Amino acid sequence: MPNEQAAKLLIIPQMLPDSQIDVVMKDICEHIGLACNFDVFPARVPNAMAYMIDGKRVIMYNPQFIAELQHDHENPSWATLSVLVHEIGHHLLGHMFVNDGNFPARELEADRFSGFLLYRMGSTLNEAEENIRTMAQENETPSHPARSRRL
Ligand SMILES: [Zn+2]
Repeated sequence: MPNEQAAKLLIIPQMLPDSQIDVVMKDICEHIGLACNFDVFPARVPNAMAYMIDGKRVIMYNPQFIAELQHDHENPSWATLSVLVHEIGHHLLGHMFVNDGNFPARELEADRFSGFLLYRMGSTLNEAEENIRTMAQENETPSHPARSRRL
């Protein structure tokens, strides 16, 4: 994971955060009963990442990646929700402050939170799994568990 200064440079400064993302974040936070104290930025990241920057909770997302997840839905797709809730999960689970190097275990914790909350928001199991089915690697990597475990 890049350090704070390197992470800051990933933010695409000329691009305003998508207003729809703000609406989605508010909706998610309402379902958790949480003050929505996350700063969300479009950034040059592979899909989405959670960071602490200047003491604030930051979620960065790749705008093309989110656009593809949205297909042409007007409402946020379950896949988009799944990604954002997963990143929120990293923050709420305190993963920004864990240095045990066990990245796959942290990913499963964030996935578990995402699956749980999507269910509480009304998704079917199939809808909650959609993003993992398409995005997750089949085999375990140093950072992420295998798809079958994440599902
Ligand atoms: Zn993750």
